Amino acid sequence: MSEFAPSKELLEFIVDRVNVGVFIVNEAQEIQLWNNFMSTNSGLNPEDVVGKNLFDCFPDLPKRWLAKKLSSVFMLKNFAFTSWEQRPHLFAFNHNRPVTSGLEYMCQDLTLMPIKDDDGTVTSVCVVVFDVTDTAIYQTMHKAAMTKLEMVSRVDGLTQLFNRSHWQSRLNEEFSRAARYGSPLSLIMFDLDHFKITNDTYGHLGGDAVLIQVARIIRESLRENDIAGRYGGEEFGIVLVNTDEEGACVVAERIRAAIAGTPVPFSDGEISTAASLGVAQYSPIFSDVEAMISASDACLYHAKEKGRNQVVPYSSVDDCDENYIVDKNEKDEVESGSAADGGED
Ligand code: GH3
Ligand code: MG
Ligand code: MG
Repeated sequence: MSEFAPSKELLEFIVDRVNVGVFIVNEAQEIQLWNNFMSTNSGLNPEDVVGKNLFDCFPDLPKRWLAKKLSSVFMLKNFAFTSWEQRPHLFAFNHNRPVTSGLEYMCQDLTLMPIKDDDGTVTSVCVVVFDVTDTAIYQTMHKAAMTKLEMVSRVDGLTQLFNRSHWQSRLNEEFSRAARYGSPLSLIMFDLDHFKITNDTYGHLGGDAVLIQVARIIRESLRENDIAGRYGGEEFGIVLVNTDEEGACVVAERIRAAIAGTPVPFSDGEISTAASLGVAQYSPIFSDVEAMISASDACLYHAKEKGRNQVVPYSSVDDCDENYIVDKNEKDEVESGSAADGGED
């Protein structure tokens, strides 16, 4: 069988017809070969560039980076690769994808191949430029879709606050942190007053408009680190990190006043609403998150009993009955225990 020995013309023909960029530079950074893909996309033909310095022909190239890459191939005699994810493009070539792709230039992967003489010395480097714009568009869209999906799975559709499961997992984290490091942590639980009447009077859409406005008030009242969630139908929970009960009451009162003082525009009129709020600060008497939620909840119902549209802090609830999750005796025991500890020091 005769050995196939491609002619120089055949090799040049193939290099010119492949749909990737191919060019060769020597150690003096002079261009030795420039294929059709490179001519079409750069607007410079072989007669414009061959024999000239690559960086003189393309002053916008990242010179320091590319020169280092090239010299490492000359020195180490190995292939080198770069991905569009590290550096979106080497040459600022246009692409023909829709403008909606959001990409200004063709995305490129690069392969740098050492070309060696018979002694194994690298005499030049062949650079192959792959157009990976479609991959980049697909991956960017995929990433954006995953981010959106992740966000949607955490957020309540109506109010755009965190949904119950995500909110509670964030509360769990903060509860553990407070238990371990002793940083203050407070929890506000609240429920809209007579919301059934709101729904009965204005219909479900009226009720929904109120929920949306309450969520907006909550967002506007909080700091970046606070964690607000929709706990149930018209019940909300707010985790306030690095905040003691006194500070949490200030926030709760601000929210209460804003809800009561901002009627919700609906249809041709407006809907007035109000909320009752319970506030509890983390303390070792809460054996778990549920106990802390129940304590704030108990304060909330205390606020309902006292006439609604008010804030009740846990420390003010001395006359706890057995409905309160932490028994008064247990609470007193812990408090007197810590006082006794302090006295002995
Ligand atoms: P209270 O002052 O004692 O809290 O009285 P209330 O009428 O608010 O009583 P409750 O908290 O039990 O009422 C909850 C109502 O919230 C009942 C339910 O129909 C309504 N609800 C729950 N989820 C939604 C919702 O997504 N949209 C609307 N419009 N209403 C909801
Ligand atoms: Mg309720
Ligand atoms: Mg209610």
